[in-house]
Amino acid sequence: MGTRTVYPDTNCQYAYKTDRASFLRRIQLKAEELWMDGYRVRPMGEANTFLVYREVEGLEAGYKVNPVTGTCTCKFLTDQYQYPLDLADPGKIIPCKHLKGLKRLIDEEVGYFKGLEHQARQHPHNEGSRRRADGYSVTWAALQLAWVEAMAAKRRAA
Ligand SMILES: [Zn+2]
Repeated sequence: MGTRTVYPDTNCQYAYKTDRASFLRRIQLKAEELWMDGYRVRPMGEANTFLVYREVEGLEAGYKVNPVTGTCTCKFLTDQYQYPLDLADPGKIIPCKHLKGLKRLIDEEVGYFKGLEHQARQHPHNEGSRRRADGYSVTWAALQLAWVEAMAAKRRAA
């Protein structure tokens, strides 16, 4: 009871067991391509927590990613509580692409809004452009600050 191995294996358990290297490589690759795959990121109200979502799916379908606790609400990660990937080390959690790719995605998002700000600043005499530029700058600065704060919290927790 309780400690019995769950059969049949989930797809992830099977992939991890049969070809761990390419399984992990695929996660890394997907992590690096989040932005290209249409993912976006924004800070949430909660400390150290970011909402990673796809624009086509909307905010509601997004995942809450916390780089300090190493948690994410996606199925890949939460499934591991019930179906550990490493049966020799069931407490081990393999980070999902959202966790692994978070820093890079934030850099992309910040760069995107900096670009928009730069464009809007080309028209300093246009009141609307100026307001938009200020809005973009507030957006990327808040995201960048949330990341810096999360990394400081992570260092304190280490
Ligand atoms: Zn995830």
